[in-house]
Amino acid sequence: MLSKVVIANRGEIALRILRACREMGIKTVAVHSEADRDLKHVRLADEAVCIGPAPSLESYLNIPRIISAAEVTDAVAIHPGYGFLSENADFADAVASSGFKFIGPTADVIRIMGDKVSAINAMKKAGVPCVPGSNAPLDNNQKKNAKIAREIGYPIIIKASGGGGGRGMRVVHSEASLQNSINLTRQEAAVAFNNDVVYMEKYLENPRHVEFQVLSDQHGNAIHLAERDCSMQRRHQKVVEEAPAPGITAEQRDKIGRRCAEACTKIAYHGAGTFEFLYENGEFYFIEMNTRVQVEHPVTEMITGVDIIKEQLKIANGDELSYQQHDIKVRGCAIECRINAEDSETFMPSPGKIKSYHAPGGPGIRMDTHLYNGYTVPPHYDSMIGKLISHGCDRLTAINRISGALDELVIDGIKTNINLQKRIIKDTAFIQGGANIHYLEKKLGLY
Ligand code: ADP
Repeated sequence: MLSKVVIANRGEIALRILRACREMGIKTVAVHSEADRDLKHVRLADEAVCIGPAPSLESYLNIPRIISAAEVTDAVAIHPGYGFLSENADFADAVASSGFKFIGPTADVIRIMGDKVSAINAMKKAGVPCVPGSNAPLDNNQKKNAKIAREIGYPIIIKASGGGGGRGMRVVHSEASLQNSINLTRQEAAVAFNNDVVYMEKYLENPRHVEFQVLSDQHGNAIHLAERDCSMQRRHQKVVEEAPAPGITAEQRDKIGRRCAEACTKIAYHGAGTFEFLYENGEFYFIEMNTRVQVEHPVTEMITGVDIIKEQLKIANGDELSYQQHDIKVRGCAIECRINAEDSETFMPSPGKIKSYHAPGGPGIRMDTHLYNGYTVPPHYDSMIGKLISHGCDRLTAINRISGALDELVIDGIKTNINLQKRIIKDTAFIQGGANIHYLEKKLGLY
């Protein structure tokens, strides 16, 4: 097994990776910014290296400093977590060319999946259902673009091929504004993503966000771990996630999940990954693949019993998958509430010192967080400070458990979104299941 791993991340995911390494007897190196000396995993790691000042560009996004930390500590592999450099192909290249293992797919695969047009084409070829669209970069031929849009049917959405984080998209309802929208999206994409390639696809009006978790090893074995529903979103950011997705049948799961697993084998995918789909009127439409572990991976772990981080480490070590598809059974239901250091009403970030932290407990409750009494949440990074996860034999049990756990959870000293999460969990449409991606924003608009 890998002897020593650098954890190139912070917060709850760094701690989650440390715990998996510890269970497997792998030594850990925490790399952290000057603002993060007091992070829980920094204190627990076998070694810690400060890689720069607080701003991410000078620390968690600084490739040479992370590689140097791996060199000076004699580590053999680097786990990128999520966010930061996790989907940066140049980082994966730099890690490999410096003689370390990147815990994730190869740089080439990250590059293909990071470009939406090439990802869609790779997935179409592999038999994964995609949104009807241009499937190719748009040029500036107005007549040609109008014809493509008419064939797809309005409304359509113009998207930046290099886009991410819910940016670089524009919905178009009629031909009158088509070319102008293409031009504007192109200009914005050039500035924001340094890539002016844009494409067009059908705009689905009321879809749900349903995604499939996959694991794929270096020996051509690939499995799926069923799906998650992440439709409760605000500004394209997921707020509550659950697994399995309400109303998805075992047949649908089997059909789409197997296609995703087969696609992994076809593109020589190595590691954990997620196929994101929009789901509308009983049909799945691929939108993108995330080539890393996701924030919401715990709900899948709870319903399948598979430790996704441990599988990532084993795959990077060159092991075969520990499971075959028939070993994977969906047991009950799991729900995750993201806990953010932010005002429940205004969503303004609220960093500061935690005066008192009390974790909930009881059957089927899991709290993934780096918080502790007296910890100070720094202002420099994402506001997510933890994830509360419940598991139950059915959806209602999972709802009741997370509802009780939210009541037990105490985080004093800073503002958090715990009250918003309580409102969502008690919401009748949430309890019913299957709300679409616009539901939460509409609900919030009412307050
Ligand atoms: P990003 O990489 O920026 O997250 P995605 O392609 O995953 O971009 O899209 C982000 C979000 O934008 C989706 O979750 C969905 O809400 C919306 N979206 C993207 N494509 C479409 C589409 N064809 N129809 C409707 N909504 C879409």
